[in-house]
Amino acid sequence: LAAKENKDKNTIIEINTPGSRVYIGEGYCTIIAGPCAVENRDDYIKLAKFLKSAGVHMLRGGLFKPRTSPYSFRGLGREGLDIMVEARDITGLPLITEIMDVRDLDILYDSIDVFQVGSRNMQNFTLLDELGKIDKPVLLKRGLSATIEEWLLAAEYILKGGNEKVILCERGIRTFEPYTRNTLDIGAVALVKHLSHLPVLVDPSHATGKWELVTPVAKAAIAAGADGVMVEVHQDPDRALSDGKQSLNMDNFLRMMKELQKLATIE
Ligand code: PEP
Ligand code: MN
Repeated sequence: LAAKENKDKNTIIEINTPGSRVYIGEGYCTIIAGPCAVENRDDYIKLAKFLKSAGVHMLRGGLFKPRTSPYSFRGLGREGLDIMVEARDITGLPLITEIMDVRDLDILYDSIDVFQVGSRNMQNFTLLDELGKIDKPVLLKRGLSATIEEWLLAAEYILKGGNEKVILCERGIRTFEPYTRNTLDIGAVALVKHLSHLPVLVDPSHATGKWELVTPVAKAAIAAGADGVMVEVHQDPDRALSDGKQSLNMDNFLRMMKELQKLATIE
């Protein structure tokens, strides 16, 4: 179902909120931005207003965070949801957040516009099955060590359930190289665009682990044919409760947007 040969045109996903209409897919360059995790109301609302003014299409924010250590900040959970909803009410921008557990679907369903399946859950097949039954878009990140075939087959689970709104997201894979957090598989972006009709985004933040590399890698992603990027932005990355090292501050985010505008029309 993900294969290009079985469809006459590439999938374009439309997301509507009272304040905006966002498209993801062929011909659009969609920018998703926000902090790794929602940390508190005031910072999130302030950042959301800034991102709206900077031309972002969708707000990200982690509520349920998959952390390597159980002692790290694991997100505000349900409490943070009201903060995200308030940010959408103010900016009109649709919301994306990660869902780790099918039991959270009821809590999140009415409020969230796009569900993110994180790298660590790419093969959580019961979660994929459930997301196949809903009629909201799902952004499926490539697993830490997943082959392209495994990634496309994971997408197939969602599609098979009847949900055609699947967005693929390359976020780097594990290699022998520790200097970057992951290794962005840029070839995979071009290949999956060739094999599948589904939109493909790139997450240069998790792919590199270093904010200095986010802009050049985002440019490479767009040049390789990605339909947009999802990046982590924080008002004060040094104080971020998660992923500060890979988060752009506001100034650097504006610089990235300028660079990307040279490569694609972002509207
Ligand atoms: C995230 O986007 O917040 C995240 C945890 O990413 P990944 O699943 O790609 O590690
Ligand atoms: Mn993160």
